[in-house]
Amino acid sequence: MQVIKSINEMQAQSVSLRHQGKLISFVPTMGYLHEGHLSLFEVAKEESDITIASIFVNPTQFGPNEDLDQYPRSVERDLKLCEERGVDIVFLPSEKELYPEGYSTYVCEETLSQPLCGVSRPNFFKGVCTVVAKLFNVVRPDIAVFGQKDAQQASVIRKMVNDLHFPVEIRVAPIVREEDGLAMSSRNAYLNEFQRKDATRIYQALQKGKALYEGGNKNVDRIIAEVIHHISECRRLRVIYVNAVDIDTMKPVSREVDPGRTLIACAVWCDEVRLIDNMIL
Ligand code: AMP
Repeated sequence: MQVIKSINEMQAQSVSLRHQGKLISFVPTMGYLHEGHLSLFEVAKEESDITIASIFVNPTQFGPNEDLDQYPRSVERDLKLCEERGVDIVFLPSEKELYPEGYSTYVCEETLSQPLCGVSRPNFFKGVCTVVAKLFNVVRPDIAVFGQKDAQQASVIRKMVNDLHFPVEIRVAPIVREEDGLAMSSRNAYLNEFQRKDATRIYQALQKGKALYEGGNKNVDRIIAEVIHHISECRRLRVIYVNAVDIDTMKPVSREVDPGRTLIACAVWCDEVRLIDNMIL
């Protein structure tokens, strides 16, 4: 496995691989890898000749009072996992390499990024789109794989790729969960034993909503109320949002679930830890 830190070297390597006719897949990550990330590598490997992962904690997607400085990092362990899981190249740029002094160009998607996480994290998707656009220009992938865990992010990236004509196919892989249902996330490392236990209620609440739907109740307000009710029963959890939106457009779904298209997405504070989860009905 190759580890590349420089933009020029990464671009040259990708250009050379493309000249050799290799199909390149790409998985961008912020590191502190878990099985959720590793499942994306599996999808990537199945679809291409060369799998490239990036590890970069992107400062531009964090707000001023967010957890950039505390974000968990474990590069050596991550590189070992990448190697074990058959990643061919890891792109590991420094902050200076991607955002040198005087950096001033950003990419903003202005519609799908507004609701859900866009409300409480106003610059988040600007940071995500900017770094993903930059990484696409450096890594030059044919395919990029994202996780359903960050459903709004996947839809925003798809829209950006479409709007800006990036020659990249986007794949979205299912949410990988812990045994008790909690969606895997690097941020779960922040949770103490008690918080970790209470955090499972988020998935259970989504399941309650699903059960209601499967029992014949298609009214989104009723389903959302059920999810909020179950999360709010726990003192430690505070709902930031629970919304029903169309999976592609992120527009609110009113009245009835549109089967296979309605995303029930939520963000929750578990004490000071911000967690997100979702399901498609
Ligand atoms: P992150 O390192 O948190 O920026 O995530 C990198 C990629 O991994 C994103 O496309 C995420 O959606 C994806 N991902 C994170 N957690 C999970 C999970 N539990 N299941 C599936 N994909 C995930």
